Amino acid sequence: MNLQSQFKKTLRKIKLSKKDKIIVALSGGKDSSVTAYLLKKFGYNIEGFHIDLKIGKYSEECLESVNKLCKQLDIKFHIYDIKKEMGSGMCYLRSAIQSKQKKGMLKNCAVCGVLKKWILNKEARRLKAKAIATGHHLDDEVQTFMTNIFKGSPELSSNSGPISKNIKDKKLVPRIKPLFHIFEDDIREFSKKNKLPVNYDKCPCAIDSYRIQVREFINTLPRKDKANILKNSEQILKKIKMDDSKIQYCEMCGEPSRKQVCKKCMLME
Ligand code: SF4
Ligand SMILES: [Zn+2]
Repeated sequence: MNLQSQFKKTLRKIKLSKKDKIIVALSGGKDSSVTAYLLKKFGYNIEGFHIDLKIGKYSEECLESVNKLCKQLDIKFHIYDIKKEMGSGMCYLRSAIQSKQKKGMLKNCAVCGVLKKWILNKEARRLKAKAIATGHHLDDEVQTFMTNIFKGSPELSSNSGPISKNIKDKKLVPRIKPLFHIFEDDIREFSKKNKLPVNYDKCPCAIDSYRIQVREFINTLPRKDKANILKNSEQILKKIKMDDSKIQYCEMCGEPSRKQVCKKCMLME
């Protein structure tokens, strides 16, 4: 099945109406750009949302790519400037958080991921979106599943799927991943073929993640094996039920959380 047919097939499973407002989390990279391009092509009601992390030249180039893409697609575009909203760029915020941690220092992407997730949910809700679309693809999903297996915590993947499941709460905006069944190589090829304005550079902060080691291993596998891991993970995860009874609201920021204080506020307090 070609990329566009697979994309449509996944969207049919997600069952969103074309009238529903979808916020596309645009990083400036190929995956989220292809997601926005195809959602728009197939008539969905999308708006772009970009978190300007202020990671030097890399962020400037990402912002430029997102600007060009949104103009090309003729869609509304929202920018969250992390420096204005949170007082500092990601590099400073992250170092400050990491320097407070005594043992088991959180990796760069783990800190950044927590902050971005918090921002996206809050802002998408403010913009009255029915869903947040991200550019996660098959390779990402396999990496996440295998990382959680290697860490002995497969249940951490239990919310994974083309649409976020298990956790339902009026303050949580569902997340959709229309590229869920598509290989990264095919997305790269598609973005180049369609000359999308994409920043192909890697984030300079993604240097110490355990996930990168897993990615290198997964990249040695043939496509058939990766597809099988994803298929098997879906079967395994069906049997793992996450306890969704404990969603409460963070006593510091009011956002949904499993604990009294959410991960973002715990990191930033
Ligand atoms: S690669 Fe890691 S540090 Fe860079 S933007 Fe992504 S999550 Fe953040
Ligand atoms: Zn909080």
